[in-house]
Amino acid sequence: MHGLMQDQPLLISSLIDFAERHHGDGEIVSRRVEGDIHRYTWADVAGRAKQAARALDTLALARGARVATLAWNGYRHLELYFAVSGSGRVLHTLNPRLHPDQVVWIANHAEDEVLCFDMTFLPIVQAIHSRCPGIKRYVALCDSAKLPTDSGVPNLVAYEDWIGSQPKSYTWPKLDENTASSMCYTSGTTGNPKAALYSHRSTLLHAYAAALPDVMCISARDAVLPVVPMFHVNAWGIPYSAALTGCKLVFPGPALDGKSVYELLEAEGVTYSAGVPTVWQMLLGHMKAGNLKFSTLKRTVIGGSACPPAMIASFRDDFGVEVLHAWGMTEMSPLGTLCTLKNKHTALPEAEQMKLRLKQGRAIFGVDMKIVGDNGEELPWDGKTYGDLLVKGPWVIGSYFKGEGGDPLVDGWFPTGDVATIDPEGFMQITDRSKDVIKSGGEWISSIDIENIAMAHPAVAMAACIGMKHPKWDERPIVVVVKRPGAEVDADTLKGFYDGKIAKWQIPDDVVFVDAIPLGATGKMLKTRLRELLKDYQLPTTV
Ligand code: AMP
Repeated sequence: MHGLMQDQPLLISSLIDFAERHHGDGEIVSRRVEGDIHRYTWADVAGRAKQAARALDTLALARGARVATLAWNGYRHLELYFAVSGSGRVLHTLNPRLHPDQVVWIANHAEDEVLCFDMTFLPIVQAIHSRCPGIKRYVALCDSAKLPTDSGVPNLVAYEDWIGSQPKSYTWPKLDENTASSMCYTSGTTGNPKAALYSHRSTLLHAYAAALPDVMCISARDAVLPVVPMFHVNAWGIPYSAALTGCKLVFPGPALDGKSVYELLEAEGVTYSAGVPTVWQMLLGHMKAGNLKFSTLKRTVIGGSACPPAMIASFRDDFGVEVLHAWGMTEMSPLGTLCTLKNKHTALPEAEQMKLRLKQGRAIFGVDMKIVGDNGEELPWDGKTYGDLLVKGPWVIGSYFKGEGGDPLVDGWFPTGDVATIDPEGFMQITDRSKDVIKSGGEWISSIDIENIAMAHPAVAMAACIGMKHPKWDERPIVVVVKRPGAEVDADTLKGFYDGKIAKWQIPDDVVFVDAIPLGATGKMLKTRLRELLKDYQLPTTV
């Protein structure tokens, strides 16, 4: 027997309709690329998102067409989140930190047809447009006064002109809830990047779950500043959970230095924030140097890479802010676990509580997880045994866009590539990652890309790239090189060889020359062994 409740699809357009109707005067504050502070309301977001949806309709874009963005966290980007997905197109958030060659590859693979960009990223657009023949419209997120006449970018229009003449009324299409809504590419650990393609249903369920008290705990009484970029896994879903709760949103734009973030947190009464450890390191450094305190910030989610214990302690002891350690990935929309204590833990001594808070946390309802051994056998939840972490759930990837990489699932479970323990209370802790990519400042660096470039140098016989702990960026890459017999090259020349081939921040900090790189039985480089050999190595202090 079927239930007799209304059958309504879970759609992203319903989020903005809700925010407009029930929190119409709720504030959205943005530090703009233009430098000033912009403020308006959820009702304004809704009206302008409808104008943008109409503007997309004028381009005769089919349902499912990809509309890309290269943009900071800001109000126009937020409007596109609702306009693009709500009108049945797919929002493709491109990562502006990638090298233009990578952006070209990804935009062409995604078959992007429109590219909306902040003026900061005009140089990227100028570098790529001739190699992206599928993009038929470029939209600069500014008004026409800010649009240069000689940019060289074809079919370029200012966003304010583009949407300005459109009416603020629009009937959102009633889509199937499984319709694709947005996409985000992961860095390719083996080969090219692959895209996670989210649906309206997965996004809505994730937004519900993310707002729960034991997850991000976002409410209508919060003012939320997502530092985590809207170009990385939809800013961890915060824009959607924000519309669902009607909280105030505060966007930092391009100014992510400690001083700018601190001033915005204070000026806007921010209660809640989210970001990778690197950003918080800059913020805490600024605050400690100036002996500053928070007057409103209560909680912050930290994830993307392991949060250092000292950071959790400093937030709590020096600044009275609770850190919520979170784990997830692009393939998981992204939230998988979040570390909040159970009632019985609140009576534990502080040191015991701290041990729990360092873990990546408990599974969120909607995500099931397990750890398995080499033969796929499930391992015990004893907090000691570690194994490959597998997950499943309605916002976990089923397959990659265009089927890249084949079927990623193992008996219906997605292997995360992370290695973890799970304790008897269900607290998961990442002990390592099985992939060898390097994470610097919250962004992946593909070790294979770095190695491939080094190997292209005539004096290099073999190259292995590994990450080294760095106090500011978490990890920085170094490349370990075996020279060809009789060939000569020095470290500076080899570092110079990377110029223009990858983004500057991806260039290895050092080149270490060795006689041989340890190889495994199948001829693969043994990076674990290499790390052991280099355990006393120190990164150059100039970086
Ligand atoms: P991405 O898809 O770029 O968001 O990266 C996902 C990966 O980041 C995960 O598979 C983990 O390896 C790593 N990661 C995310 N959050 C954490 C965390 N809290 N602690 C340790 N590693 C993390």
